[in-house]
Amino acid sequence: MTRLLQVTGPDDPAILEAAAVLARGGLVAFPTETVYGLGADGLNPEAVARIYAAKGRPATNPVILHVADAVGAQALVSHWPAEAQVLVERFWPGPLTLVLPASDRVPSIVRAGGPSVALRCPAHPVALALIRAAGRPLAAPSANRSQHLSPTLAQHVASSLGEAVDLILDGGATAAGLESTILDLAGDRPRILRPGPIGPADLTALLGPVELWEGAVKAGEVQAAPGMAERHYAPRARLELVAPGSGVRGISGTVAYVGLGSLPPLPEGVRGILLPLDAEAVGTRLYALLHELDDAGFERIFMERPPEGERWLAVRDRLRRASAKELP
Ligand code: AMP
Ligand code: MG
Repeated sequence: MTRLLQVTGPDDPAILEAAAVLARGGLVAFPTETVYGLGADGLNPEAVARIYAAKGRPATNPVILHVADAVGAQALVSHWPAEAQVLVERFWPGPLTLVLPASDRVPSIVRAGGPSVALRCPAHPVALALIRAAGRPLAAPSANRSQHLSPTLAQHVASSLGEAVDLILDGGATAAGLESTILDLAGDRPRILRPGPIGPADLTALLGPVELWEGAVKAGEVQAAPGMAERHYAPRARLELVAPGSGVRGISGTVAYVGLGSLPPLPEGVRGILLPLDAEAVGTRLYALLHELDDAGFERIFMERPPEGERWLAVRDRLRRASAKELP
């Protein structure tokens, strides 16, 4: 049985126990403000290899290193641009991951062999205390099997990864619900690789124009950046996006319909779920809801397509990937 320890705060003795597991090259799942992470010593290639094995993650998909502050990040890059300083002063700790040129301290497996490293400082007291107790950066992708839904509860980690994790720190439900925004600062111009809780407007306010990587918004494109596979973040149930207000007709099986802002009349037997027409609220609730519907055995989920516009970018991105067909 995987060990699961409740943690009540940054001074909880469970954190020291977890740090000891990490020092031995073990895997510890821990809460962040976005989703649960599957952590390993980010400077130990064998430990990081265990993350890939546990998740069934392709070796071409690099992992994010989690640090306790900007100084921790600066130690892992070969160049710390002015933009990075401005951004971390405003958004760290928080759901912003920066891709920067890696220093040679960063093991190749963390970078998936590439020249850059992704860095984030999570805004969760338990995550920060764990990084500090470990005394090193923690490699930590989301604590789920590759391509599956990200965990927002410790229980989700246990059911997705089971025995593959040495210890799970249970800090309750995560707050932001969606994975961090990933911003690439290693190229000529700042570019969003994955939309997230910190939106383009937040970034342009500080940086001026920011590019959006096409694959982050368009469907059916060839994978142009590591880890940006089309199908991702997916529930077991078949998820289909429908026009707002369209409802469902002539469908059998256990079916749920998720309305945004209002619910159309639904046939008997279809479970109607109403979410507010509010991007942030939907972002917070989305994964937990999909987990609940999976656990309840729903076979199909119809969800109303969110509106166009920047505020909904991150939710649209996750829904598009969660509803994409399996890759060939
Ligand atoms: P997750 O596995 O859910 O934590 O997601 C981590 C994301 O960060 C993946 O989509 C990776 O492709 C991305 N990522 C990590 N390191 C890099 C990097 N050096 N360059 C670009 N993307 C990265
Ligand atoms: Mg993930």
